[in-house]
Amino acid sequence: MYFPSLAKLIEEFEKMPGIGHKTAVRLAFYILSISDDAAREFAQAVVDAKSRIKCCSVCQDLTDTDPCQVCSNPKRDRSVICVVENPRDVIAMEKTREYTGLYHVLHGVISPMDDKGPEDIKIKELLSRIDENIKEVIMATNPTVEGEATAMYISRLLKPMGVKVTRIAHGLPVGADLEYADEVTLTRALEGRREI
Ligand code: ZN
Repeated sequence: MYFPSLAKLIEEFEKMPGIGHKTAVRLAFYILSISDDAAREFAQAVVDAKSRIKCCSVCQDLTDTDPCQVCSNPKRDRSVICVVENPRDVIAMEKTREYTGLYHVLHGVISPMDDKGPEDIKIKELLSRIDENIKEVIMATNPTVEGEATAMYISRLLKPMGVKVTRIAHGLPVGADLEYADEVTLTRALEGRREI
C-alpha cells in the first residue's frame, strides 16, 4: 500500500505506546511535510536523547549527568528515599514541591503475569543504598495489585535492616497511576503515608 521508506516510517511510529495505525500514518505524513532541516532536527533529538540520557548510578532515575540533579543537590534531605516505579513518577512528585528527599526508581514492578521478578527491577540497587543515614523509605509505587505487592516485598527486605518503611496512602484512587495524579492529591497521599 505504501512505498517501502514510508511503510518503514509508519511501522516505527506504530511501535510507540498509544500509537495505533491511523495515528502512525498521520505522523509519518507529518514528517514528510516538514522541511529537511526540521526532519534532521527530529532525528538528531532521538539520537541525542538515547546517547546522552543514562540511569543515575545512585537513584536509577534517567539523567544526563551522573549523579543526577536530585542526588547531587546538597539541599535535599538525604535521610529519606521515595521509591517509585518509573522516571515519570519522579517528575510527578517533584511537581508537588512538597517532597525534599531522595528518590529510587525501580523501573517497573514485580509482575508474575508479565514474567517480571524481583531481579528484573532495581531492588538490589535500593538495598545497597540503605545505611545508618537513611531514616525512612517511602513506598510510592502505584496503588495497583502489582504496585502493592512490590511495596510489601521491598518492605519485608528493608525492615530487618532497621529502616522505617512507609506507604503513601490517602487520596490516590485504587488502580490509578501516580503520574496522572494532580499535585494536591499526590501531596495529600504523601502526607497521609503510614508505616508498613
Ligand atoms: Zn540520582
